[in-house]
Amino acid sequence: MKVQCSQCQEIVEIPDGYAGKHVKCQKCGQSFIASHKYIYEDSSAGFWAFRTMLTTKLIIIIFPVWCIITGLVAIGWIVKMASGPYDVQSKLLKIAIAIFVWLLNVCAFRVVCEGVIVIYRIHDTLEEIRKK
Ligand SMILES: [Zn+2]
Repeated sequence: MKVQCSQCQEIVEIPDGYAGKHVKCQKCGQSFIASHKYIYEDSSAGFWAFRTMLTTKLIIIIFPVWCIITGLVAIGWIVKMASGPYDVQSKLLKIAIAIFVWLLNVCAFRVVCEGVIVIYRIHDTLEEIRKK
C-alpha cells in the first residue's frame, strides 16, 4: 500500500496492514501515522493531484520568466522610442503607453495563471467529492 508522508509529501510504499500505525518515511526519516487521509491511490485522482502540483510549480517558474521577457521587450521599445525622431511630449506618451501595455500584459498573464490553478483545484475538489 502506498501512503503519502505528512512531512515531505513523498509517496512511500509500506506493507499492507500498517494503516493507522506509525511508519517511518524512507525519504526524510520522519515518522508519521499512516492515516487514511494519507493513503495514496494510483487512480486518476492521484494523477490529477500530481498534475496540479506540477502545473502550480510550472506557473511559479513561468510567471516571473514571462514578466522578465516582456519587461525586456518593453525596455527595448522604450529605448527605441527615446532615441526616435519624436518631440519630448510624444516620447513620454509612448513610454507611458509601453509601460501600461507591459503592466496589462503581466496582469492578463497573472489572471490566466490563477485561472489554470483554480481549474485544477476545482477538478481536485470534484474528485474528492466524487470519492466520498
Ligand atoms: Zn517524508
